[in-house]
Amino acid sequence: METLRLVFGHPGFRGAQEEIVGHVAAGGDALVLMPTGGGKSLCYQVPALLRPGTGVVVSPLIALMHDQVSALSQLGVRAAFLNSTLDARQARAVEQALESGALDLLYVAPERLVTPRCLELLGRARISLFAIDEAHCVSQWGHDFRPEYLQLSVLHERFPAVPRIALTATADPQTREEIAARLQLDDARVFVSSFDRPNIRYAIADKADARAQLLRFIRDEHPGEAGIVYCLTRRKVDETAAWLSAQGITALGYHAGMDAATRAGVQERFQREEAVVVVATIAFGMGIDKPDVRFVAHLDLPRSIEGYYQETGRAGRDGAPADAWMAYGLADVVQQRRLITESEADEAFKRVASAKLDALLGLCETASCRRVRLLAYFGEASQPCGNCDNCLAPPETWDATDAARKALSAIYRTGQRFGAVHLIDVLRGHDGERIRRWGHQSLSVFGVGADLDEAAWRIVFRQLVALGLAAVDHAAHGALTLTQASRAVLRGEQAVQMRRHVARPRAARAQRLPAGSAPLDAQAQGLFERLRAWRLAEARAQGVPPYVIFHDSTLAELARCRPGAPAELAAVAGMGARKLERYGSAVLRLIAGEPVEAPPGAARPG
Ligand code: ADP
Ligand code: ZN
Repeated sequence: METLRLVFGHPGFRGAQEEIVGHVAAGGDALVLMPTGGGKSLCYQVPALLRPGTGVVVSPLIALMHDQVSALSQLGVRAAFLNSTLDARQARAVEQALESGALDLLYVAPERLVTPRCLELLGRARISLFAIDEAHCVSQWGHDFRPEYLQLSVLHERFPAVPRIALTATADPQTREEIAARLQLDDARVFVSSFDRPNIRYAIADKADARAQLLRFIRDEHPGEAGIVYCLTRRKVDETAAWLSAQGITALGYHAGMDAATRAGVQERFQREEAVVVVATIAFGMGIDKPDVRFVAHLDLPRSIEGYYQETGRAGRDGAPADAWMAYGLADVVQQRRLITESEADEAFKRVASAKLDALLGLCETASCRRVRLLAYFGEASQPCGNCDNCLAPPETWDATDAARKALSAIYRTGQRFGAVHLIDVLRGHDGERIRRWGHQSLSVFGVGADLDEAAWRIVFRQLVALGLAAVDHAAHGALTLTQASRAVLRGEQAVQMRRHVARPRAARAQRLPAGSAPLDAQAQGLFERLRAWRLAEARAQGVPPYVIFHDSTLAELARCRPGAPAELAAVAGMGARKLERYGSAVLRLIAGEPVEAPPGAARPG
């Protein structure tokens, strides 16, 4: 607790952290399952400081290692890394520091750690613990399998007395068992945290003009803030990034088709600048440790709830309010179903993929709390959250039995050969050239749906497909067809409830502030902005991301409380002893409204 306050400047532990720290500091093995942003790093950093020797952290992500080491150095913790970015001389210096006991924490890439040379080096040093971060990489069924991770069991064989802590944000029981087995963590205590991320507001909007909706969302709710926009294809990434840029938003594209240097450049700017929006395929994300991502938007439907939760989990790691926003429409359902049907995978895999997609569609179509639904998927029971679109503005449901019957009979009468656009024309009695060509103006269903507008019909068709009451024939260019389940509705034996489309006004949100804290008044807001500008200059001069210096939440508290003396400063969350020493006087001068000398080299590079 003392270390936590003094070194990290945090007023207290979060959730299971205290128990985990106690267990590992006492020499026990642990397997820690915590959601992204839950605070996994402290679970090994604090015990490493409490125990004699160096804590060795295995991490698969080089960018993440660098940031962790920068952040720890800011706190006055003696940390270093060993990976392929160091030249021989630099690596030698780190090795010597390790051997002479001058390091609290050492981050090592897994492929390097398992080399005989490195194991011998560790044999000569005093090791306080092994932390295996992103431990799900050991699982062959998981999404980021790393073969080197399989060899990490050597740590237990070579160093049986050193405690090990494995950490992951991947929750499912299958992966959990695989981690324990492969890393020989049989005696480890397992700590499972709630996977809820209460500061993230989930919203799933009916897709109309997705780009315009996205722009409105960014402009109204996240101006000047960092976020990620996920798209399914590279082409859409490029187009969306270009379009957002043309609208005056700093937007950068990122996908696997770009060369490594460009991708690294995008990642670097995202981490180092304050208001960059990255438009990306799911290739972007692993290794993004930025705590102040204020929104994650999906312009296309992900494949599964696991994918959706992992991607949205990159928002708001700092605990301050963040948004997970998705625009969703019939075309998304059609596209994802098509990807499954046309994939080369075997039938068993396709069945699983279909089931996962259905679960996600259930989340999209639900009229009740999104969070309850999400957590239930991960096996956690909960109460309506009050912080999702459905809780904040409960959607009306309506008796869509009649509309569903009309829609299904339009599918039937036109021979199950047409997509939604044409079917809507038929239902609404749109007497155009295409209709005439097929003679559909003389069908009994022609014009029977004039009471609903086009947008409403689109949503009816989307829900029919999502509910399995209609299907998509990909071999016939996405024609809608009937299913077994259609018949009962057509015969009038089954009622259908649907959520009604509403263009709902969203609650305006004021400022970038931590959860539960009062908004800043105008004066405090001005100081907050000045503190941010100073932080950015300082970060540039040191070549580190701004959040490594102070989090927004710390700046907000400074702006609100306006401490006037070092002792008052020390009471602010996020102000550890080392940061107080280093930045205290600059911060006090900023609060007093005095000029602060720009750090050397603070001029914007380039
Ligand atoms: P994870 O690795 O689980 O995604 P991190 O270890 O990066 O999460 O922590 C997420 C954020 O929460 C970090 O910005 C960290 O500083 C902050 N944090 C973690 N534990 C605490 C705590 N006890 N008090 C305050 N902030 C914390
Ligand atoms: Zn809710």
